[in-house]
Amino acid sequence: MGGRFSITIMANDSAEAGKYLDLAITEIKRVEALISSWDKKSQTSEINRNAGLKPVKVDRELFKLIERSISLSKLTDGAFDISFASAGKLWRFDGSMKKLPTEAEIRKSVVTVDYRNIVLDKTASTVFLKTKGMKIGFGAVGKGYVADRVRSMLISEGVGAGIIDASGDLRVWGTRPDGEEWKIAITDPADKRKTLAVLPISSGAVVTSGNYEKFAKIDGKRYAHIIDPRTGWPARGLVSVTVFAPSAEIADALATSIFVMGTEAGLNRIDQMPSTECLIIDESGAVFTSKNIKINQP
Ligand code: ADP
Ligand code: MG
Repeated sequence: MGGRFSITIMANDSAEAGKYLDLAITEIKRVEALISSWDKKSQTSEINRNAGLKPVKVDRELFKLIERSISLSKLTDGAFDISFASAGKLWRFDGSMKKLPTEAEIRKSVVTVDYRNIVLDKTASTVFLKTKGMKIGFGAVGKGYVADRVRSMLISEGVGAGIIDASGDLRVWGTRPDGEEWKIAITDPADKRKTLAVLPISSGAVVTSGNYEKFAKIDGKRYAHIIDPRTGWPARGLVSVTVFAPSAEIADALATSIFVMGTEAGLNRIDQMPSTECLIIDESGAVFTSKNIKINQP
C-alpha cells in the first residue's frame, strides 16, 4: 500500500497474537490485490485499461467501495474524486519538480476527471469509465479502507481490542489494557517535540493528511500531493488535517477533501456530520477545530 502498517492487538499470549497478526497481513494483501492501481493484475487496473471501451465485472467488495467513493464525491462537491488519478501524472511530489506546469497543461490534466463519468451497474456488478484515458485510484481512501477491513476481520476472530495504524490512518476498537479509552496525541507542527493536544478516540478512526512529507516546493511555495479535481491545481494553504470519524475510510476521504475545500468549507461540512470532528492547521500555524473538539482545556 506504499506505507508502513503497524498493528497492535490484545491477546492471551504471544502465540495467539502471532496468529492474529498473520491473519491481518493476509487481509492487507488480499485487499491490496483488489484495489491497487499499480498492480496490473488487479480488478482496479482492469477497470482503468477498459476506460472508454467497456464495462468490467468486479467483486461486490470493489463495487461497493467505488459506490461509496462516489457518494463521498457528492458529499464534498467533487473535492474528493477517485477519478483524479489521471491528473496526478503532471506533478511530482518528491522534491524533483522545479517549475510549474503551464495553466493549459493543468487544465488539460483534469479533462478526464469526473466521478459522474463512473458508470455503475448494480445488477451486473460492472464498472465503466466513460472517457478514454480516465483512471480511478484509491490513494486517498485505500489505507483507511484496509484499516477498517483488518479491524472487522480481527473482531470476527474474537480479538477484543486493538489499533490498526495504516501509515497514520488509525482505526481502534475496545479499550486499553488498563480499561482506559485509546488516546491520540496531535503533534505541534511548529515544534515536533511538543504535543498540541491529546484526544480520546473510543471506537472509531482518526486520520491525518499532512503536507510535510509529500509536496513540491516551487518558487518558495508548497504544493500538496492532494489535487483539486475541479481545477487540476494542488491544494494549498493547509499543513495538516486530522479527521475523527466512525470509520477510517470516511476519515481518510474527508481529510483529503478538507485539504481541497479549505478551512471554512471544510469545517462547515464536518459540523453537519454526526460523530465526525476535525482539527486543521494552516500554513501560518493557526489551529481550527470543529464544534465538539476542545483542545485548550487541561
Ligand atoms: P496520505 O497518503 O498522505 O495520507 P491522502 O490520504 O490525503 O494522503 O491521499 C493522498 C493521495 O490521494 C494522493 O497521493 C493521490 O493518490 C490521491 N488524491 C490526490 N488528490 C485527490 C482528490 N482530490 N481526490 C481523491 N484522491 C486524491
Ligand atoms: Mg486521505
